[in-house]
Amino acid sequence: MGRVAWPAKKRYRWRNEFGEGIHIDIHTQAVQLPATYWPQNSAVPPLYQTAAYTYHSVDQVDRIFLGEESGYTYTRGGNPTSETLAALVRDLEGGDGAVVAASGMGALLVGIMTLAPKPTPILLAREVYGGSVGLVRQVLEPLGYSLNWVDARDEMAIRAALSKGPGLLLVETISNPLGRVSPLDTLIPAAHQAGCKVLVDNTFATPYHARPLQWGADLVMHSVTKFIGGHSDLILGVLVGSDKWVDRAASLINVMGVTPDPYASWLALRGARTLALRMERASENAMTLAAMLKNHAALVKVYYPGLTSHPDYAIARRILSRGFGAIFALHLKGGRRAVERFASGLKLVPFVPSLGDVMTTISHPAVASHRELSAEEQETVGIDDGVVRVSVGIENVRDLIEDFGSALTEAEPV
Ligand SMILES: *Cc1c(COP(=O)(O)O)cnc(C)c1O
Repeated sequence: MGRVAWPAKKRYRWRNEFGEGIHIDIHTQAVQLPATYWPQNSAVPPLYQTAAYTYHSVDQVDRIFLGEESGYTYTRGGNPTSETLAALVRDLEGGDGAVVAASGMGALLVGIMTLAPKPTPILLAREVYGGSVGLVRQVLEPLGYSLNWVDARDEMAIRAALSKGPGLLLVETISNPLGRVSPLDTLIPAAHQAGCKVLVDNTFATPYHARPLQWGADLVMHSVTKFIGGHSDLILGVLVGSDKWVDRAASLINVMGVTPDPYASWLALRGARTLALRMERASENAMTLAAMLKNHAALVKVYYPGLTSHPDYAIARRILSRGFGAIFALHLKGGRRAVERFASGLKLVPFVPSLGDVMTTISHPAVASHRELSAEEQETVGIDDGVVRVSVGIENVRDLIEDFGSALTEAEPV
């Protein structure tokens, strides 16, 4: 008996069966799996929980290594389950190719090494994820890369920073936790004009709200752990872009060993199919909740890019579609003590130092996501001890309004 032959399609090149040029809505696109034949006519992609693949021909293995024949040899270099996830995210982001990595941080490291393989100044948008700053400081600076900060909305500062010849700009579509939105439509072309590559962390926006490749981003990355996975049960990352960059990234993932576990990819595939539905509900909930809470007496301010009071409201209207995302921040009067009272006053919403779950969660950036930054740096990006990040889920918003309302009242300084 012959073995099941994997369909002769190059990895991460599978096309949605609608083909190119036919517009389908993201709600439809997300539930569509890349068209292919699954062994035994399985309706959904099977889990290929395997380290390696068996053959009976030395010549065939040689052809696969040479790229003359498609197939898999060893999961560090490629796995059908992970590549199906990559294909789904590729289609959602509108890229040519995509590749999955072991984590968001793994994808970020590989993305940086792909676009800037030799030491160069790296320009970081001021409010990027604390872990990204840690990566540059702990891994890349000792290798000779340098780190410069820029306010992504300050045109003069950007021009000045770009004139110093950085090799790479790392920017987030929507920042953590204050919801600062980057003007990707002007920023990316400006960087390219200065010969600077652009890596966009689109974790917070997801392709539901923004697709940075449309403005020319060289690579887009996600922490799949968050909204794409959507259920706080896995750690994964992904990179999307042109075939040239994705091929290079895939080979770095192989040699660096930041390979995704097939089971995590399989879980993420299941989660990703409801991404559009979850984002629709979560961003509606976030808008309602942020608007309800914005004048609460216990608060200094609510930060949500969908509120007209947000400094980036105009940019958000331009860059984001279908709403403004599922994350907002509350700045409580009374600092960390008030945050403590608020966290213990919430009955439905737990403290979870992550985000993007179907359930609403809170976190404290000064203690969790941004602890990599010094007190002074935290102050520059507006992270105060009184700031709480809220990752809004898909619950009935009336229950959330009640829970937040009473916990905030308990947190009010007396
Ligand atoms: C979580 C996160 C990362 C890191 O991803 P991991 O999957 O935790 O490695 C990177 N960027 C942003 C914006 C994140 O929220």
